[in-house]
Amino acid sequence: MNFMLTKLYLASGNSHKIRELQELVRDTDLKFEVLSAAEVGGMPKVVEDTGTFVGNARKKALALKALLPSGSWALADDSGICVDALEGAPGVESAYFAGEESDDQANLAKLVMCMHDVPREQRGAHYVCVLILLSPDNQEFHFEAKCEGTLADETQGTEGFGYDPFFIPQGYSQTLGMLSAETKQKLSHRAKAWAELVSWWCNRK
Ligand code: IMP
Repeated sequence: MNFMLTKLYLASGNSHKIRELQELVRDTDLKFEVLSAAEVGGMPKVVEDTGTFVGNARKKALALKALLPSGSWALADDSGICVDALEGAPGVESAYFAGEESDDQANLAKLVMCMHDVPREQRGAHYVCVLILLSPDNQEFHFEAKCEGTLADETQGTEGFGYDPFFIPQGYSQTLGMLSAETKQKLSHRAKAWAELVSWWCNRK
């Protein structure tokens, strides 16, 4: 039956994103076989220097696409959190907020510190996700979504990754760190961008 499936390689080295994307793809009734970059030797290092989510996602998709067997599609995700009180920062720099070599924990700690004195009514924030899909002949399709919310007074919960313990999605009173993975997969920026892609895929031709 495998010859029926479209091979879709995920252009990411972030294990959390890979897991969320794999689950989103598998929960969709599309004939994709989802493969990680590890299948072709790992995600190549990409310098995320374009200053935009679209530009960075494009770089990742093209970097992986160059390694893929013919007939394959590549899917890249560039995402981040934009904080109103910080004029949209960290935005595209979300993965490096605390420095080039920083990790999720250090980035989160820096955001908590930056928000220390910010009053509740000024704690608005949103996640952004851009998905770039590259066809076997390098046609590019781009999908984008936001998840609106606010930043909590303190970090809470251990679900999700990155800034999730600090982010309360609109309509909820708990952080994504406290809400279940199933709930996040219904409302996240990534889930919404994926839903856009699915809708486009189902309507193409
Ligand atoms: P990228 O790999 O350059 O796209 O960076 C994404 C960064 O944005 C991650 O390292 C996280 O810090 C943050 N981020 C993106 N999506 C999420 C999410 O769903 N939850 C928490 N943090 C996220």
